[in-house]
Amino acid sequence: MPHATPFTLAVNPKIPQRLARLEELANDLWYSWDRSTRSLFSRLHPGLWGAVGHNPKAFLKRVDESLLLKAAEDQVFLANYNSILSAYDSYHGEPVRTETPGGLNPYDEVAYFCFEFGFHESFPIYSGGLGILAGDHCKAASDLRLPLIGVGLLYRQGYFFQTIDNHGNQQVTYTSSDFEDLPVVPVLNANGSEVRIVVDLPQRKVMVKVWRAKIGHVTLYLLDTDLQENSADDRDITHQLYGGDGTNRIEQEIILGIGGVRALRELGIKPTIWHINEGHAAFMMLERMRGLVQQGLDFPSALEAVAANTVFTTHTAVPAGHDHFSADMMSTYFSSFHHELGATREEFMGLGWDPDTHDFNMTDLAVRVSRFHNGVSKIHGSVSAHICRDLWPHIEPEENPMAYITNGVHVPTFLAQEWADLFDRYLGYEWRNNMSDPEFWLRIDAIPDHLFWSVRQSLKSQMLYGIRARLAKQNLRNRGSEAHLDRLLKFTDPLNPNMLTLGFARRFATYKRATLLFEDLDWLRRIVLDQERPVMIIFSGKAHPADVPGQDLIRRISEVERMPEFEGQILLVEDYDLRLARRLVAGVDVWLNSPVYPLEASGTSGMKAGINGTLNLSVLDGWWGEGYNGKNGWAIKPGLENMASAQRDKEESKEFYETLQDHVVPLYYARDKLGYSPGWVKMAKNSMMSLLPRYNAARMVGEYAAKFYVSASRQGTRYADNDFNGAKRVAAWKAYVRKVWGGVAIRRLDTPLKRISFGEGLKLQVAAKLNGLQPEDVVVELLICRKIKSATLCEFKHFRFGFTGVTQSDEHLFALDLTPDLCGKLDYYIRLYPYQPLLTHPFEMGMMIWL
Ligand SMILES: *Cc1c(COP(=O)(O)O)cnc(C)c1O
Repeated sequence: MPHATPFTLAVNPKIPQRLARLEELANDLWYSWDRSTRSLFSRLHPGLWGAVGHNPKAFLKRVDESLLLKAAEDQVFLANYNSILSAYDSYHGEPVRTETPGGLNPYDEVAYFCFEFGFHESFPIYSGGLGILAGDHCKAASDLRLPLIGVGLLYRQGYFFQTIDNHGNQQVTYTSSDFEDLPVVPVLNANGSEVRIVVDLPQRKVMVKVWRAKIGHVTLYLLDTDLQENSADDRDITHQLYGGDGTNRIEQEIILGIGGVRALRELGIKPTIWHINEGHAAFMMLERMRGLVQQGLDFPSALEAVAANTVFTTHTAVPAGHDHFSADMMSTYFSSFHHELGATREEFMGLGWDPDTHDFNMTDLAVRVSRFHNGVSKIHGSVSAHICRDLWPHIEPEENPMAYITNGVHVPTFLAQEWADLFDRYLGYEWRNNMSDPEFWLRIDAIPDHLFWSVRQSLKSQMLYGIRARLAKQNLRNRGSEAHLDRLLKFTDPLNPNMLTLGFARRFATYKRATLLFEDLDWLRRIVLDQERPVMIIFSGKAHPADVPGQDLIRRISEVERMPEFEGQILLVEDYDLRLARRLVAGVDVWLNSPVYPLEASGTSGMKAGINGTLNLSVLDGWWGEGYNGKNGWAIKPGLENMASAQRDKEESKEFYETLQDHVVPLYYARDKLGYSPGWVKMAKNSMMSLLPRYNAARMVGEYAAKFYVSASRQGTRYADNDFNGAKRVAAWKAYVRKVWGGVAIRRLDTPLKRISFGEGLKLQVAAKLNGLQPEDVVVELLICRKIKSATLCEFKHFRFGFTGVTQSDEHLFALDLTPDLCGKLDYYIRLYPYQPLLTHPFEMGMMIWL
């Protein structure tokens, strides 16, 4: 019908009264971690369930009325439906805890901003690790009843779908979502019309629509510019995630940061804690500052007031990975913003100015206008402290305010159902309440080995089953022959899941070195093709469409996959997403990770694997640097950082081959007469026992609450009370300190002793020229270095000097009586820094004078 006009008509089924609440279930992302809800939908029509991408809302609009009517009369279905509703109601109806977690006040609310959120494959507004972490943060907050709302963007196309052709070329397809099919609804205002907010862009105003998604107890607000009121270009602002150019990126970040604050204002939501997950949302702080300046605050006080209750989490370990915008671009988009902030243009640009790259750096902005900052693993915290060291020029990175909170994963989402069932039987239902208690999880040890192993095998079978389906589809599309498919699937027999299987799946970024195992193909052949003890390796992942080297990795894997000898034992599966991730992490035997140290900020897929008893074989980087305990997997020690990269790849791949051939393969195949390796089961149990209590998202969110949220709320109040008196005082004090600091100096008055006996005291005295500061504006401090293990590392003990008087020449005297409680040769240091009790971090000014 080439000339006919197609009229479209959607015929939606009428949901029978008895099943009316299916719609409620479909509109709450609770289903993203409640598997029985998903099965309920899927059982109505498995084919349709697959066709709509496991999306309950889309499913309900398309399912045959007759199936619903039948289900409404089916006692088995109804029983299942009712038991799910009862679980749903008890989750949602649970009384709000009187004691809010971590000591928050009843009125506290966290606003959590992120560029992407990953809850479930049916809601495509995520690309990978960052988004899924944000999703897990919301899910855990809901579980903990932590008062948190999310703020993000609703992308029409989200991230791309991937196919891989016969030559290993990645093909990219974008699909537009019909928002009516997504678990979102427009936010309405009191008179029932849709909320619109306005964001200023150069020479125009952009209208923004606000959507709402429900994640259990958490509400996520999503902003969307695809509205008729906007020009075609502006409609495209929220078109794709990480899809556009620099202009699109800055506009998206303005919509998220500035639009996000305006949306919350419009809705009357007053967060007391503001958390930005990665620097994309840092313009949020500018909009809040503008609001305060409009209320009459000056620029420096507004900055202090906003920073006091702002948390910034950085996820990147490569300085080039931080977002930055040219000065020109900033002039275009923020030409008059400094006026509205009551600041000079220099002051405004100074908020994000990066003297190394001569542009506006979103990480610098984020750190300067927040007082709580963290990396996402111990190693990454330290890397970030070094990257940002210039923001606190006189403070050693080890002491600067960049802290760390290690990531975690949402256990109900990523722990396979079979494990949850086994835990219910062997640990009791209360395992859910003991998520972060290491003692509790030791009970896993008592699960009989053969049962433990049968769960592992069953998960592996399911994974193989899923892989077969994907590979078959892939082969058909690429016009591969049946014979070729047979060869590919030769070893993925779900009935015989007995070949040691390694998995590598994540974003194909070069620093993750997906092809490290191909460094020495002969060695790899000897390991993989061993007749008695063969090995299979499954690869999956997407490369950003603009990342050419990342796509080369895919081609290389495809090339090795197609080498006749590897056929069927090295597999490349396309379109890595949350669904495939859940299957792979639980189904393979070993999870590989080979990043270039120290570039893996945290990594979370290895946690998902480890909690499912899949053993990690990884470079000691990111989370594995602290997760590995010698008994719960295998560790590759990174080569020296200054080694040439080719040599380093060679060394580290050698370590991988040796570990595989000497440890992994022999342990896996040391099967007893029951068909499994007791040593393997022991290690898998160790993995679960050690990792479950630590790398779960409830522990992570609890740590954010205890370390940051409670203090941020308190600081926010201290700064805002009495018409922002605290913020004004700190701002004025800092300005004064900065003005006079150049003239502050310190000298020692007593003669340093070289030797004393244990028990004897020392009397130390220093004179400080304070140049107008008061003695209470500074801390004079002595540090004793206690050498730990290796002679190069210090653990410091701190002692404060007391103020004793002023000399005739207007020097301030400070004294300390010290009786060392240590013997041996001690190193000690004396220093002076500006201090006042309203500060959030003692070194936030980055100033220090060492004697
Ligand atoms: C967990 C997860 C990631 C993050 O994996 P890393 O190995 O930490 O990079 C990426 N994509 C998906 C789909 C995931 O589930």
